[in-house]
Amino acid sequence: MKKYQLMAPGPTPVPSEVLLAMARPIIHHRTPEYAALFTEVRTGLKRLVQTRQEVLTPACTGTGAMEAAVANTLSAGDRVIVVNAGAFAQRWLAIARAYRLQIVELAAPHGETVPAERVAEAVRANPDVKAVLVQHSESSTGVLHDVRAYAQVTAGIDTVLIVDAVSSLGIADLPMDAWGVDVVVSASQKGLMLPPGLGIVALSDKAWRANARSTSPRFYLDLAEERKYAEKNEARFTPAVSIMVGLREVLRMIEAEGLANVFRRHDRLSRATRAGAEALGLRLFVKTTPSPALTAIEVPAGVDADRVVEGFATSHNITIDGGRGPTKGKIFRIGHMGYAAETDVIIALAALEQVLADLGQPVDFGASVRAAQKVFVVGS
Ligand SMILES: *Cc1c(COP(=O)(O)O)cnc(C)c1O
Repeated sequence: MKKYQLMAPGPTPVPSEVLLAMARPIIHHRTPEYAALFTEVRTGLKRLVQTRQEVLTPACTGTGAMEAAVANTLSAGDRVIVVNAGAFAQRWLAIARAYRLQIVELAAPHGETVPAERVAEAVRANPDVKAVLVQHSESSTGVLHDVRAYAQVTAGIDTVLIVDAVSSLGIADLPMDAWGVDVVVSASQKGLMLPPGLGIVALSDKAWRANARSTSPRFYLDLAEERKYAEKNEARFTPAVSIMVGLREVLRMIEAEGLANVFRRHDRLSRATRAGAEALGLRLFVKTTPSPALTAIEVPAGVDADRVVEGFATSHNITIDGGRGPTKGKIFRIGHMGYAAETDVIIALAALEQVLADLGQPVDFGASVRAAQKVFVVGS
């Protein structure tokens, strides 16, 4: 028997109290019981997203919520800026193309970011630009983009800032209203430690004004319709009832820990993972600001990173993930988001030492664990 550990950069493990809540008999969504749940979830989500806006919960994955953001704020022919430094940014590009938008692409190599100054220049050069589309945490590379600085660029102009926060909501601080982010998009299966299937999306007043102008076709993901129902505390269609039940539990857990402490925990886990990797002489892939959701690690010359991922799976029953596109075979990614604790990082690092040794690499056993433990002592 090998105990299973899910340490991918999503989906992430679901706490047993949440699984148990979701295992109870399904409730109907037009009952007082569901109404009470929806009230609690709507209030909790506003606190989590740090907004006074209604936070909508369409039954779809993160990509569905990304598409909803585009379909509800933009129209064919609109010009948008896409900050592209990874696989999830390419998804923005694909959605923008599907909606026939004109794209100004600001590209950076994987592992890097696009400075806000470049976004500001692009906005100045394209005064008709309707939206800036970015990731907060680019999960394919492990970079945290400077959304706060991007928001300063779009403040005071009509351009909306649309942020994919799928791997940052409940992981890294993103105060939507305080920073002036116009659309926050997320999903259930990352920091929110739930099964996949629930999208999360909130629009600022500016984004709702853009919504009123937008002529893109939409029906299932018509967010203005969704909001009408949510404000009456009603579901427009059958909601993802089981995930909503789990979400109520998750919001209670986050509330009990304290949102600031949740961010501190993720920061500590990511610092410890980085310290552990470096203690083994491995290089971190991200040279700018790393996302606290995951750590991307380069392999020594002559090692295929996919063999590391395979070693985790076959020898230790731990799921991590490899690189995508240009980083395939060059990096592996360890997720430490959501239901993740210090001991999980210790397990992952100990397994990493074992896997590297199995691949014939010289390993100073215990070095990475020691480095992480030191972070946990002085950190906290
Ligand atoms: C996981 C993820 C998504 C969403 O993907 P789905 O599979 O559609 O849920 C989007 N953006 C980022 C940054 C992600 O990490």
